[in-house]
Amino acid sequence: TELKAGWNLDNSYARLSENLFASVSPTEVEEPALVILNEPVAASLGLNADALRNSDSVAIFAGNALPDGSEPIAQAYGGHQFGHFNRLGDGRALLLGEQITPNGERFDIQLKGSGRTPYSRGGDGRAALGPMLREYIISEAMHGLGIPTTRSLAVVTTGEPVYRETPLPGAVLTRVAASHLRVGTFQFAAAWGTREDLRELADYALQRHFPNAVVEEGDNRYQVLLRKVIERQASLIAKWQLVGFIHGVMNTDNMTISGETIDYGPCAFMDAFDPATVFSSIDTQGRYAYVNQPRIGGWNLTRLAEALLPLLHENEEEAVKLAEDELQQYVDWYHQHWLAGMRAKLGLADHEEEDEELIEELLIMMQKTKADYTNTFVALTFDRFEDLPELQAHEDFAAWLDRWLVRRGRQAASLEDAHDLMRRSNPAVIPRNHRVEEALSAAIKGDYSVMEQLLRVLAHPYAHTEEQAEYAVLPEQPNCNYRTFC
Ligand code: AMP
Ligand code: MG
Ligand code: MG
Repeated sequence: TELKAGWNLDNSYARLSENLFASVSPTEVEEPALVILNEPVAASLGLNADALRNSDSVAIFAGNALPDGSEPIAQAYGGHQFGHFNRLGDGRALLLGEQITPNGERFDIQLKGSGRTPYSRGGDGRAALGPMLREYIISEAMHGLGIPTTRSLAVVTTGEPVYRETPLPGAVLTRVAASHLRVGTFQFAAAWGTREDLRELADYALQRHFPNAVVEEGDNRYQVLLRKVIERQASLIAKWQLVGFIHGVMNTDNMTISGETIDYGPCAFMDAFDPATVFSSIDTQGRYAYVNQPRIGGWNLTRLAEALLPLLHENEEEAVKLAEDELQQYVDWYHQHWLAGMRAKLGLADHEEEDEELIEELLIMMQKTKADYTNTFVALTFDRFEDLPELQAHEDFAAWLDRWLVRRGRQAASLEDAHDLMRRSNPAVIPRNHRVEEALSAAIKGDYSVMEQLLRVLAHPYAHTEEQAEYAVLPEQPNCNYRTFC
């Protein structure tokens, strides 16, 4: 008997104003072949992994067939790209629909690399295998780290080349997201839609992501929407900073309303601690450098607030005042999340006034000595201070270590609890750039085992096993000139 994949699609976005999307069909490809399937994600969606491996399902992942109930659309959006506002949209992606899970949750199922759409501009609508696998690996790593993220259900190769600087194997990624609503979606509606489109979109976002948001008396519901997005982004970006994740292209079209990390193009993790770290080849000014991410988050949220102004109050001055009231909370919320996370990384379960100074002093020494960000915290977690040769060479480190050990011992929590907190807060592994590259180059040659092994390790970053220790080893040549591409 034929296995059922279990698609249970709704198309609520396609029922919104037709100004917000375009109906499109995926473009057929030559020879679809499944490269990787995410079984845990399949299971969480109520999909049968065995059925997803058969040729009918692979045809769906390639865009050669549609699952039952799909009404494919490309979503319109705008976005500030490196500060410049542009009219955009899904140029190489389409939404198949929203899978309703057995728990009644709703997830967007999107194909990326599925061909041209009305929003493709000059692009070919296609994606290459390397970048799609890169998105798969890093998004799974983020999930393992406990950071909200879109995920990848599958990657298929198309049997067709895509032409970048050189011909590359083509691929399609199936992306799963709480939604694909972006700051840029609201910017699109504000710039090119009607007032009704904007309101409909805002109501949709509230209903989909914040159904239990309390609208207190005197509060406008759209002000609450803005507040909730600010909260989610403050929390998300703090989590990025705490693990050394650099998104690389924090344009407003790449910032979600749901608070999930999205668009794994030029992102990468920092090795040696340096706030100025930038990996993206196109970010020549360092706009999206590690140290700038929190501030850019605030800048992007200000663009969201601007888009929402017409809904906040009929009087523009009043609307601006309401938006500013909400926005001014961002810096504080971000800082609270960051400080709480940093305390946990140092095993501090309570609060003392000087904690922030203690943290800052460590970071300054790490920067000065080019200490590895991830491995420094792991060594501190296990009291392996001899594993910190760079820091040990710093004249102030011994005194810092004494102060921290005294501080850690002074709290009500036991030493065992402090160590436990540190183990849960300091990952043993991150997707090191040389490991990701190694996995990708093997995969391009048809050997997926290196990537699969890497994914197994990245799934449990807080396990601190011996196998993971291998993946924590730095490359022999430090890759300070590592460059990523969109
Ligand atoms: P990104 O830099 O990935 O956020 O993409 C910015 C915009 O360019 C989005 O509207 C994408 O859909 C579009 N885009 C990126 N690559 C392609 C492509 N190969 N073909 C068509 N559109 C693309
Ligand atoms: Mg994007
Ligand atoms: Mg991209």
